Amino acid sequence: MIGLMQDHPLLISSILAHAARHHRGSKIVSVAADGTQLRTDYPTTAARVAQLARALDRLGVRSGQRVATLGWNTLPHLELYYAVSGSGAVLHTVNPRLFPDQISYILNDAQDVALFVDSSLVPTLMALADRLPSSLHTVVVMDGAALPKLQVQALAYEDFIQDEPADFEWPVLDERTASALCYTSGTTGEPKGVLYSHRSTVLHAMAAIQPDVFALRAVDVVMPVVPMFHVNAWGLPYCAPMAGSGLVLPGPRLQPSNLYGLMEAEGVTFSAGVPTIWTGLLQWLQSQEGIRFSHPPRLVVGGTALPVAITEGFQREYGVPILHAWGMTEISPLGSVNTRKAEQSDWSEAAFLAYSRKQGRPQFGVDLRALDAIGKPIPQDELAFGELEVRGHWVASAYYNRTNEDAFTSDGWMRTGDVVTIDALGTIEIVDRAKDVIKSGGEWISSITLENLALGHPDVQLAAVIPAHHPKWDERPLLLVVRKLGSDPSPASILSIYEGRVAKWWIPDGVEFVDSLPLTATGKLWKAEMKKQWKDYTFTA
Ligand code: ADP
Repeated sequence: MIGLMQDHPLLISSILAHAARHHRGSKIVSVAADGTQLRTDYPTTAARVAQLARALDRLGVRSGQRVATLGWNTLPHLELYYAVSGSGAVLHTVNPRLFPDQISYILNDAQDVALFVDSSLVPTLMALADRLPSSLHTVVVMDGAALPKLQVQALAYEDFIQDEPADFEWPVLDERTASALCYTSGTTGEPKGVLYSHRSTVLHAMAAIQPDVFALRAVDVVMPVVPMFHVNAWGLPYCAPMAGSGLVLPGPRLQPSNLYGLMEAEGVTFSAGVPTIWTGLLQWLQSQEGIRFSHPPRLVVGGTALPVAITEGFQREYGVPILHAWGMTEISPLGSVNTRKAEQSDWSEAAFLAYSRKQGRPQFGVDLRALDAIGKPIPQDELAFGELEVRGHWVASAYYNRTNEDAFTSDGWMRTGDVVTIDALGTIEIVDRAKDVIKSGGEWISSITLENLALGHPDVQLAAVIPAHHPKWDERPLLLVVRKLGSDPSPASILSIYEGRVAKWWIPDGVEFVDSLPLTATGKLWKAEMKKQWKDYTFTA
């Protein structure tokens, strides 16, 4: 027997329609690359999104075609999110910080028909001009009227939309229709496209705004610092209008003073970013005599391991709570969050602080399991290492344009490539990427644990642990350290940080001081490059 309830497809167009109808008073603030601020609201934005959808139609963009963007967190980018996906086409956000070869690979793989580019990124585009896909017909500059000279038609955004009527009949799509395409940053080989659907996006946003996840309310003001070109800014451009929250889009000016200024001026209550963003903000705050937040915002952090020192600094010194989350491009991105459980009701603040390094537990809608080398689920003993697999409503089932990916199991799970332990509460802790773990005489050593401990040394600015060849143990950990300005620690002083904190056989066999460490386009330690640079380094038995 089928239930007798209305059957509305889960569509992205309905999110903005909801905000425009029921949250007219929530603000949207957008900062352009040149610092100009734009202030608007959901009804005005919905009207401009309708104009943009009409303009896309006039241009000939059809259902299923890909429309690329090279842009920051700005209002035009938000408008594209809703106009492109809402009309049935596929929004393809491209990371402008990738190498030109990767960008041209991605544009050609996706076969985009149009490209919207922020005026500050026109030089990036020009560097690619002779490698644009043959399918690309039009480039629209998102702000300003500076038009590049290209072999394709180039337009200015405001000219493109201004004559269109401000209403649009949003199509009632199958909710499984593709809505957006995002490529993983390719830290592990060629970038791979993840193709989201309307259904996965709406369900992900509904899950993300819940109390034990982002806990978003209509009175919140949300500032995504995590870029709109990377996993849809962790879904926040959908979450905020769904909850009715205000939205502050900080553009590319992400210096700590700018972020703090926006948080204070706009009353930001919730913001999200990777650890490097929040480390930078914390260090800047600590350098400003007597600075405080008038209303401390809540911060969510993920993307790489979160050093406890950041959580501690924000919480103790500034009253800013930090939520630690884990996710991947393939999971839209939310996989787990470290929020409290019933069993923790009598825990001390110090215990929670130490626990904040862990990535947490899955929210409803995703399921996790971790398997050992022979495919058996690992015990929840906080000790056993296993590879994390995930399945759920917003988890990829395949990569775009690819076949035979071994990332997907025959029984419907996706292999994450992350190695975890699980504790008695079911909380996961990422100990490493499967490819980065140090394999010392058949035992595994977590490079992430060693890096995080090294960051606790007062003279260490940045640390990475990679395997180096050892004649007896095959691999042993080598610690690479960028020293803090003006400090000159000895290797022995650095290694002393490990005493009593890890098993003796985990302690790195060597320390090398370097001026900088290679980072990926998303700001993560680029281990593949480091391993290449240090491939001839050998320990002696
Ligand atoms: P890429 O690394 O290619 O940029 P993603 O941005 O999708 O791809 O990154 C996903 C990976 O980032 C995860 O598989 C995991 O290794 C790492 N990651 C994400 N969040 C966390 C976290 N909170 N702690 C540790 N690692 C994390």
